Amino acid sequence: MDQVGKVYPNGTIAVQQANLQAGEGEFLCFVGPSGCGKSTIFNMIAGLTDQTSGELSVLGTTPKEARKQNEIAFVFQEHTLLPWAKLIDNVTMPLTLRGVPKKQRIAEGERVLELVGLKDYTKVLPRQLSGGMKMRVSIARALIARPKLLLMDEPFGALDEITRQTLQDELLNIWQQDQKMTVLFITHNVFEAVYLSTRVVVMTPRPGKISEIIDIPIPFP
Ligand code: ADP
Repeated sequence: MDQVGKVYPNGTIAVQQANLQAGEGEFLCFVGPSGCGKSTIFNMIAGLTDQTSGELSVLGTTPKEARKQNEIAFVFQEHTLLPWAKLIDNVTMPLTLRGVPKKQRIAEGERVLELVGLKDYTKVLPRQLSGGMKMRVSIARALIARPKLLLMDEPFGALDEITRQTLQDELLNIWQQDQKMTVLFITHNVFEAVYLSTRVVVMTPRPGKISEIIDIPIPFP
């Protein structure tokens, strides 16, 4: 992002003069109070809304092009799982929409469900699962197309503390297995940001301005 700004049609300045660079394989956490522009930045990176000033490039191209090539995946706090579809059908949905043959879909679905520790649950329905397990399914679905960029918007915000810690460690394991996947992660929880990330992006209450970018090397045990 080079001097990126976003002014919504109603005149709200959501982001201004944001400069940010994330490298391949980095894990960046974004922290800042509500309304500081975190979601707006994610939506611009994902190609869901255009910036109104500055330059933005994602994976060497425009956000919309990167999204078209299925290189970007999203995980939100709310589960957007289909309640009537078995887990295998939920996680393979992105491939189904793309017309990937069934055999390949199932193989990929089993791969990602195993990644999140749910390989014995392929035929289960989402409503039979706990909140933490539903989040694992959402992560599995995001990973199925092997994205180069994973955007996570407060994914663990609704989970209890113990489940959250378990999922943090699982996510770190998955990320460390894939040396090239870049993760951008929004959280209100400063401890979570420091624990997970290679770099924390701190945003101030002033309209969307990224005031400081602090490099924090986390010593992994
Ligand atoms: P955060 O994710 O940090 O809570 P947002 O990016 O959602 O922040 O919002 C940044 C600012 O932009 C806020 O003032 C918010 O009210 C405003 N905003 C967000 N989306 C829209 C929209 N679609 N139209 C107008 N203003 C918006």
